[in-house]
Amino acid sequence: MKDSMNRRQFILAAGALAGSAVLAGCGGSSTSSSSTSTSTDSSSNAASSSSDDSYTLVKNGTLTVVAELGFAPFEYMNDKTGDPEGFDVDVINAVADKMGLQCEYLPNQKFDTLVPLIKQGGKADVSIAAITITDEREESVDFSEPYLDSNQAIVAIKGSTETEETLNDASKQVVCQGGTTGNDWITENLPNATCVPVDDVTAALTGVQTGLYNAMVVDLPVAKYMLTNSFSDLDIIEEIATGEQYGIAISKDNPNLTKAVNKALEDMKSDGTMDSIETKWFGSTI
Ligand code: GLN
Repeated sequence: MKDSMNRRQFILAAGALAGSAVLAGCGGSSTSSSSTSTSTDSSSNAASSSSDDSYTLVKNGTLTVVAELGFAPFEYMNDKTGDPEGFDVDVINAVADKMGLQCEYLPNQKFDTLVPLIKQGGKADVSIAAITITDEREESVDFSEPYLDSNQAIVAIKGSTETEETLNDASKQVVCQGGTTGNDWITENLPNATCVPVDDVTAALTGVQTGLYNAMVVDLPVAKYMLTNSFSDLDIIEEIATGEQYGIAISKDNPNLTKAVNKALEDMKSDGTMDSIETKWFGSTI
């Protein structure tokens, strides 16, 4: 009886292996630089003879990216060209390039839909959107190795006397982008304040400008960039050392894609690509 159970288990395991081989045949690999999107044979994307490092792609030869495109300097729409631009856009383009893939962005999505969208699969291969690696998100998706460190900031109108203490009051409206770590920080650290999650960072900052909100909690590099470039009448009243790290979100069903992305990031660190992208967007390597 025990023997037959073992045989059954073996057959199940063999079946699972065969299944993964079929999957691998539909995917790309770290050497699939010559794959073409005109091919009708989906298996042609796997150029490597070894199926061990194969990954799947939504579209052959293409790394399909989803993001919330209102988070300068990480990702925003260039109004003139209609193309996404930013630090993350440069990073993911370089990653795709290293993998021999084209990079294609899906239309803008709300931030709090990105992780569920990657978890669900079928629409995008990766999401890069200044997404902080958190334990909660790691239950839904895998992340690449961290590619940037970050913190939070409290933003208020210039000359404001608000502090973390004064904001922790039900009469105070503290805005954030919904579903972000800034949102979590308010909930945990300003439990008495009225937390207002919104979709759009620019709308949130405009609301702080007009007095609709008393303050905003947002990623520090975004606060710095937006205040320098568009909101000169706002100030960072406190920097919060949350010690966050950004990662690229990838489906748990596609572990070899995470490996290939990590390999590309590693190469970008050692060959100076990452340094030059950091210098381009932040003036120096940070
Ligand atoms: N880093 C923050 C988070 O992951 C904010 C990201 C964003 O708004 N694009 O929640």
